[in-house]
Amino acid sequence: MNNTELTPHFEELKKALEGSIDDDELMAELNKYLNDYHVDIAAAKRGILRKYGKSDSSFATSSTPVKKVADLNGTEPNVDIVAKIVYVETKNITVKGLNKTIVSGILGDDTGTASFTVWEPGAVQMEKGSVYNFRNCYCKLWNERVQINIGNRGKVEPAVGIEFEVPNSTASLASTDVKIGDIREGMGNVSVEGRIMSVESRKIVSRGEEKIVYSGIIADETGKIQYSAWHDFDLKAGESISVKNCYIRAWKGIPQLNIGDRAVVDRLGTPIEVEAGDSLKTVCEINRIGGGLDITVEGVVVDMKNGSGLIKRCPQCNRSVMNGMCTAHGSVDGIPDMRMKLVVDDGTGAIGAIVNRVDTERLTGVTMSMATQLANIQGEGVIVRELMGRILLKKVRLTGNVMSDDYGPSMIVRSAEAVETDIQEEAEKLLSEVEAAI
Ligand SMILES: [Zn+2]
Repeated sequence: MNNTELTPHFEELKKALEGSIDDDELMAELNKYLNDYHVDIAAAKRGILRKYGKSDSSFATSSTPVKKVADLNGTEPNVDIVAKIVYVETKNITVKGLNKTIVSGILGDDTGTASFTVWEPGAVQMEKGSVYNFRNCYCKLWNERVQINIGNRGKVEPAVGIEFEVPNSTASLASTDVKIGDIREGMGNVSVEGRIMSVESRKIVSRGEEKIVYSGIIADETGKIQYSAWHDFDLKAGESISVKNCYIRAWKGIPQLNIGDRAVVDRLGTPIEVEAGDSLKTVCEINRIGGGLDITVEGVVVDMKNGSGLIKRCPQCNRSVMNGMCTAHGSVDGIPDMRMKLVVDDGTGAIGAIVNRVDTERLTGVTMSMATQLANIQGEGVIVRELMGRILLKKVRLTGNVMSDDYGPSMIVRSAEAVETDIQEEAEKLLSEVEAAI
């Protein structure tokens, strides 16, 4: 900024400081902020005003403090940050049933890096490697790491003429080692070790260019997760890898590992143990992670919801058909099927579970042909009552993929079994709980 450009700001400051600083000193201060501290003019003015005991409400600008990334502690309700984009991506998410576009990534200055999310992206197209003023941000702590949020009060503006060297080591330090079973939506930069269970590739068109995306399942001893790789890392089924700088995206609450631009893949000499059985989780834990693949829960059936019993499915898309109408294919000749939509409570919370025909028959002893005959005689309503009477308050063990929506988590059950409870043991457990409570 040359002197002509600086003059109006200089005059504005002089007026606001009401002679508490002489002109040379003021110019020296301005130069120090702009050239040594590399902050923008608005931040320089605020800094000088604060230094000389004037609140910057002397200006029409807000009194937002400017902080370096390393100085953020994750509790700032309102802060300005000048930083370079290290990584940026646009995401489509669903909030309360509405589709919404957000921008998130990693930003950094010469002191460190942090993840950020712009919740109301405006006209500014953020580019990797460019420096921006992030105004009126609020920070939160997650897993002891600072997350920067730019909400509807916030603003992102290009910062012209400011350059940073973002320390590389900090960028990789910012990656948190996590176990696959602990991964949840909203995690920033993570590193995992796991075994590639499957690899497939497909062509997509991104910004007019044809690209190949690799995807599959990666697992460790705590769980498994779907991954997508945006480069050919030459991944092979069966090999154990460590992968740094991944991002987590979620689809219907199921977290997915995104191996993007900045990811570093290394082959491991020792194979990673993969969980043998299913990963048993409490509903409370599921609520925390949002969802996942091949999760097992054990609990008591406390309710059966509408849509249970005899149903018809669309022959083209397998959706359940209401009054002969598929929401996608219109009037269709539905194929008969049977299912239960259960609510299962494990003491830590409740989860919805959709049980297919085979497992419904096995859990209740009501076969579909029995149900169909019964329905022909007594009407379909009797089927739900029949199923309900046989499953309500029974303890079950269910395994399947768990997704989340506004109504909470629900499982598409892949396998189900009734758990024989030892009545004696349960009674003793209850007794000891009662005794403990007295
Ligand atoms: Zn259909």
